[in-house]
Amino acid sequence: MPLPIIEPTGTEYEDPLDLMDEIDELKKEKDATILAHFYVDGDIQDIADFAGDSLKLARDATQVETSTIVFCGVHFMAESAKILNRKKRVLLPDLNAGCSLAESCQYEPLKNYQEKLRAEGHDFLTVAYINTTAAVKSLCDWIVTSGNAREIIEKIPEDKEILFVPDQHLGRYLSEVTGRKMILWPGACMVHEVFSLQDLNRAKRNNPESQVIAHPECPQNILEVSDFIGGTEKMRQYVKSIEKPTTFLVATEAMMIHPLEKLAPQHTYVPVPGIITSTGETCACNRCPHMALNTLQKIRNCLRDGKPEIEWQPYFQKAYDVLERSLLQ
Ligand code: SF4
Repeated sequence: MPLPIIEPTGTEYEDPLDLMDEIDELKKEKDATILAHFYVDGDIQDIADFAGDSLKLARDATQVETSTIVFCGVHFMAESAKILNRKKRVLLPDLNAGCSLAESCQYEPLKNYQEKLRAEGHDFLTVAYINTTAAVKSLCDWIVTSGNAREIIEKIPEDKEILFVPDQHLGRYLSEVTGRKMILWPGACMVHEVFSLQDLNRAKRNNPESQVIAHPECPQNILEVSDFIGGTEKMRQYVKSIEKPTTFLVATEAMMIHPLEKLAPQHTYVPVPGIITSTGETCACNRCPHMALNTLQKIRNCLRDGKPEIEWQPYFQKAYDVLERSLLQ
């Protein structure tokens, strides 16, 4: 007997097409622009005015002409949009959309650790991955994304040590490609950490001619067996550059497959881990639960109600200085 479908309590079903129409109307009425990260649902990416990775969206946010930005992503991204656009109203459809990586590095522990390193005689600069809170950004010298990290690290004088926060896997990868020694903060992303080598090897066996494309937030053992390593924008450019239809095993958040399919539909994309069913289908178990909190309903509601809003905080000014220098110059 089929199991009954239980609808989440408090959420009534609404037709996605009606919601899209309503969002379109509200956008005009409320003078709003929608930005969406590549990890949110494909429907949301499709209705967004700008879709992209963290670097592109931070830059896009500064080009917005409307008075309101709806940021479909997670909290630190909406914070960055507000920091770079103080005068605009920035809405986040669900304030609970956090990030395990940002949570792994908090303001006080980082400040204490920096003081300890200084007391021990370390002469270092702190480089933070953009997946950090604004408070943590205010303690840092440079902010990087997977799209510009290498370029920024290569600018840092050789006589300085580098404290890299919060992602140990990205830091280790960057240390390898730039040849710079780094002190690594022990953080990690809950989505990219779940890929197992066993799952990946099984997917490779099932797709013998395939290529593995992996995000540098993945652990080292996954990167070692990958054919291409890069952030989401670099992944897009890589698959676009290959004309011959190819099967790609994609080691990043499952929704990334949506923009890859749009840009290079000649290929087949298989999420890693792909649980192979008896019918040969695959199922993605690598969705970011925070990104998944963005829904069409919540976008409609936040446009209609003008909240939840990211309010300007006193420490945003310091975060602005470092973000502006790192991402916009
Ligand atoms: S995928 Fe990982 S790093 Fe990205 S928002 Fe989700 S928890 Fe954070």
